[in-house]
Amino acid sequence: MVDTVLLAEPRGFCAGVEMAIKALTWMVGLFEPPVYCYHEIVHNAAVVGIFRRAGVVFVDSMTEVPAGAAVMLSAHGSSPEVALAAANTSAVMIDAVCPLVTKVHHEVKRRADEGYEVIYVGHVGHDEAVGTVAVAPHAVTLVDPAAGLGDFTPADPSRVALLAQTTLGVFEWQSVLAEASSRFPELWTARRSDLCYATTNRQRAVTALAEQADVVLVVGSENSSNTQALVRVARSCGVPAHRVEGPESVDPAWFAGARVVGVTAGASAPDASVRAVIAAVAPRHGVRTVQVTEEGEYFPPPPQLRGFIEALQAAVEGGVGCRTPGRPGPLDEDRAWDATRALDLLASMGG
Ligand code: SF4
Repeated sequence: MVDTVLLAEPRGFCAGVEMAIKALTWMVGLFEPPVYCYHEIVHNAAVVGIFRRAGVVFVDSMTEVPAGAAVMLSAHGSSPEVALAAANTSAVMIDAVCPLVTKVHHEVKRRADEGYEVIYVGHVGHDEAVGTVAVAPHAVTLVDPAAGLGDFTPADPSRVALLAQTTLGVFEWQSVLAEASSRFPELWTARRSDLCYATTNRQRAVTALAEQADVVLVVGSENSSNTQALVRVARSCGVPAHRVEGPESVDPAWFAGARVVGVTAGASAPDASVRAVIAAVAPRHGVRTVQVTEEGEYFPPPPQLRGFIEALQAAVEGGVGCRTPGRPGPLDEDRAWDATRALDLLASMGG
């Protein structure tokens, strides 16, 4: 029997996921079903399931969306072509891309416009990588972090830039950075890596868990890049680590001879799944938090959602065209609720 669960802090929802889940919850409240979402809003099966039951239809192509529908684009970021198609065919289009992904899109575009060949370190087929490469496909080469640069040969070795998917393992990024820096001494790369604060903080926390635990469990879905990175980081510390979707995927055989089990969660995994996994582990001496830092990041709702709700409010208040100056709008209270509450609300409505 397990003595103690060590619970990582920070873990679970990041500011980008918070923003995206709350924005899609607004869409569900504002529009008759179906609301369409291009790609999974975040890569978590439980979250996607709640939205499906609330009337959201997830699609992988804009051709699946009827003209005049309400459409949301996912947190991972979309290609310029998809964003344009969504804007042209939908009645309302809200882009819930995380601002930290948008920052990488801007970096890719700027370097490509300046004539750089861009090495983008990311996972083939991942939604974020697909959307980012599509910003400047003629100038970008996608490199898997596990494979390294291989036979990448730029036309001008003095004009090479290195950018990355936000959710890579830090050690994977550092390995490609070292290889690229040695092959291209004039390499351009961002002063701070593109790996986001949530990725690096959760990896620091899982490293701290791995130093104290006999086994580490990472709650999150298979297609969640940062979840998979947490598993790889824990294993790189020499500790057995397993990804679990929820309590049903916990295997008691993993705990044979283990006294301390570490638990963390990827940035798209809801706290309800974490609590259920801890209940399945059933530590006899309870749970102790291992905190490596505090997070206070907050991303406001997408601008299109703000604009839509303000226009709606103005229409309700008498069609004056903009809301009364100084009068609070619904989104002014956005910090007062969180994605966990949004999901609970949807679930209680039968979602
Ligand atoms: S993991 Fe990072 S980049 Fe991705 S949504 Fe969260 S904050 Fe944004």
